[in-house]
Amino acid sequence: ESQSKVQLIQRCIRDFPDFPKKGIVFKDICPLLKDPAALTAVIDLFEEHVKKNHKQVDLIIGLDARGFLFGPLLAQRLGVGFVLVRKRGKLPGPTVSVAYALEYGEADAEIQEDAVFPGQKVLLIDDLLATGGTLYATCELIRKLQAEVLGCMVVIELKELHGADKLKPHSVFSLVQY
Ligand code: AMP
Repeated sequence: ESQSKVQLIQRCIRDFPDFPKKGIVFKDICPLLKDPAALTAVIDLFEEHVKKNHKQVDLIIGLDARGFLFGPLLAQRLGVGFVLVRKRGKLPGPTVSVAYALEYGEADAEIQEDAVFPGQKVLLIDDLLATGGTLYATCELIRKLQAEVLGCMVVIELKELHGADKLKPHSVFSLVQY
């Protein structure tokens, strides 16, 4: 049953070679969002994983921007809150930030200081794991707020970039691997 859900999801992911620049094969999840059954399958599989592997989850943390598409749906299923990690300058009030390297240059991940309390147990969610830089920076943010990362969840994992190694000892759960 979960195998057929994965297949449904797979059929809704499109490749766009050389986007946004030459050499990158962009994984487009827009068809997945347009297909209610496929989107439900994504949240079903995430929910199943969480219920099987984590006794207590306090919050789902979504990464800017496509983590925001899946995170709130999962949080609602689990009956927990959702928190945004954004790029610099988007969140009002006191924030904590971490700089991280991109392929060219760098970026900052930012979270509101009062969004996560010390000791809370959180799960991170994004659409895709590539090098792991973005999720790694988010783990740093959560550490700064003295909360605990239970694991990372993504729809798509690009295995050859070894993002999961970079995130160790945190676990990575992915629905589709390339
Ligand atoms: P990274 O920090 O290298 O793991 O990159 C992950 C972030 O970049 C995610 O938020 C993705 O949405 C985006 N991203 C990286 N590579 C791709 C790709 N090939 N297709 C779509 N999105 C990507």
